[in-house]
Amino acid sequence: METEKRNIRRITKEELSAYLQQAGEKKFRTGQIWDWIWLKHASSFADMTNLSNALRQKLAGDFSFPSVKIDHVQISSDGTIKSSFLLHDGNKVEGVLIPTETRQTACISSQAGCSLNCKFCATGYLERKRNLDFDEIYDEVCLINQQSMESAGKKLTNIVYMGMGEPLLNYQNMMKSIERITSPEGLAMSPRRITVSTSGISRMIKKLGDDKVHFNLALSVHAANDKKRSQIMPINDKNDLNSLVEALNYFYQQTKNDITFEYILFKDLNDSLKDADELIKLYRQVRVKVINLIEYNPIDQAHFTKPSMEKIHAFRDYLTKHRVNAHLRVSRGKDIDAACGQLANKG
Ligand code: SAH
Ligand code: SF4
Repeated sequence: METEKRNIRRITKEELSAYLQQAGEKKFRTGQIWDWIWLKHASSFADMTNLSNALRQKLAGDFSFPSVKIDHVQISSDGTIKSSFLLHDGNKVEGVLIPTETRQTACISSQAGCSLNCKFCATGYLERKRNLDFDEIYDEVCLINQQSMESAGKKLTNIVYMGMGEPLLNYQNMMKSIERITSPEGLAMSPRRITVSTSGISRMIKKLGDDKVHFNLALSVHAANDKKRSQIMPINDKNDLNSLVEALNYFYQQTKNDITFEYILFKDLNDSLKDADELIKLYRQVRVKVINLIEYNPIDQAHFTKPSMEKIHAFRDYLTKHRVNAHLRVSRGKDIDAACGQLANKG
């Protein structure tokens, strides 16, 4: 039966080698097949054109080869490309290619849906269906990399885990996907160009420190006092700002990687100068490289609004005046619901 076959992408290189040896194949076949799967991103055994027909058929008889397919694509007037990806079990996730003059950034999903229910995020209103497997996350990156090559003639330069889901609640697969993305046997990208964004799970941030990772971390702060933060992000009840500060300091001490704060500005909720003062206080407790001030992208399910441009600039200027490194991040792909927090399998 199809479902009982082993998934070729979940076996190790050593297991593949043992299998091929038993099948009487030459040693170099292992490398060839491994390259097809991870380097050349084949999507079926039939693609493996330097293998004999007999071997391709044998492999297809013994292994399954599920891979992520593009369901459909939307292109924004600003060049942003949003893709809906179909997983082998029918679940869908979304990923975005964000091109600029200097960068080709892929924004990818780590879970189908999300369990954390942040009040401002469209994904948070979807039920969490399941974690993505590491090879599914890797497929998203490869497919967006192909789009980048086709649309701009350039490879991806950056990857952000800022699509659907909470990457630190799918820790092993997130880690393994990055291992593949950075491996010379995969996409060979530098981990310094990868940023994992988290809503803030203190225990897992510390684990990143223990695992001495080489990629960067973004914390979705969005409110710099616990009362307000808990109102909009229920995860804050068990992971308050003090515990996050402690975890981030540990992460920095262990890895010396960049930490950024993400802060969405909501009208009359977290946009006053008093809120800015609280944010500055928080900023001073951690080695934060930059605070990204994010424009709120309206979603159907919630009633937040964004402040006026005047208010946004006043907030930013106040931070700058207090020697805080703060940037206003302009959202991309708004016309196709591809901006932060708008990924909801709608289109
Ligand atoms: N779960 C992780 C990563 C995915 S969300 C996290 O929460 O960090 C990626 C980013 O989009 C987060 O900073 C999140 O707070 C932000 N975001 C969510 N909804 C948004 C919205 N409606 N407008 C702007 N940014 C939003
Ligand atoms: Fe999940 Fe992040 Fe959205 Fe919160 S902001 S619901 S953690 S995807």
